[in-house]
Amino acid sequence: MPLLRSVLLCLLLAAPAGAAPRVVIDPGHGGAQEGAAGLGLDEKDLALQLALRLKDALAGAAEVTLTREDDTHVELADRVARANARRVDLFISLHANSMPTRRQRARTQGIETYFLSASASGEDARRTAAQENGEARGGAQRKADDTLGFILADLQRQGAHADSSRLAYAVHQRLVKATGALDRGVQQAPFTVLTGVDAPAILVEVGFISHPTEGLRLKDPRYQASLAGAIAEGVKAFMAEVAARESRGQRVVSPGAP
Ligand SMILES: [Zn+2]
Repeated sequence: MPLLRSVLLCLLLAAPAGAAPRVVIDPGHGGAQEGAAGLGLDEKDLALQLALRLKDALAGAAEVTLTREDDTHVELADRVARANARRVDLFISLHANSMPTRRQRARTQGIETYFLSASASGEDARRTAAQENGEARGGAQRKADDTLGFILADLQRQGAHADSSRLAYAVHQRLVKATGALDRGVQQAPFTVLTGVDAPAILVEVGFISHPTEGLRLKDPRYQASLAGAIAEGVKAFMAEVAARESRGQRVVSPGAP
């Protein structure tokens, strides 16, 4: 449909230069979905506290909305739908990790930053994605699985995959540097909540809420502030890179556009 493509291209090029990027922050879990149980602080509460801090840290640099502003349950598919309805420029899902056994809980800590891929980087990445995808109910999960193949087929052409990777590295490097936490790397995995987002999208596991020292550190307001500040700096660096690319006329337009 050449006419539709032309119209899309015109709309994209007519977008006001310098408009504040739209960022959606997605605090994981909520309501009855508590996420990982921590040392006096559940994952859902930590995710919301961090999301609010990140929103503050991005004030003036982006137009920020949250997928939830309080302790309520939001379906994974609805989080994506809300982001796409806002024609978001960036999507960041915030989580904390945990380990099942006492032995693993005692020794596993560190920060991981993920972007979407059909296959996981390794066994730990697969386990983390399965844990985070667990709350999707049967129907929503099947729908997400069906969509996954379709979305992944288009990832490379859209450039979103490459941009999600760039965003992940921009955020992750700053997180590790700012906190001194163990670097568990940028990884890839099939996360339901990243599937179908029409923008660069990452999921940050800010630490292991189940680890005896990292779990306590994650409750510390100063530590939370350094996490939020580092994510914000990474987001700003990525947005500056995109703005520079667009000003050089290398703007990414719709796939197949003339
Ligand atoms: Zn989670």
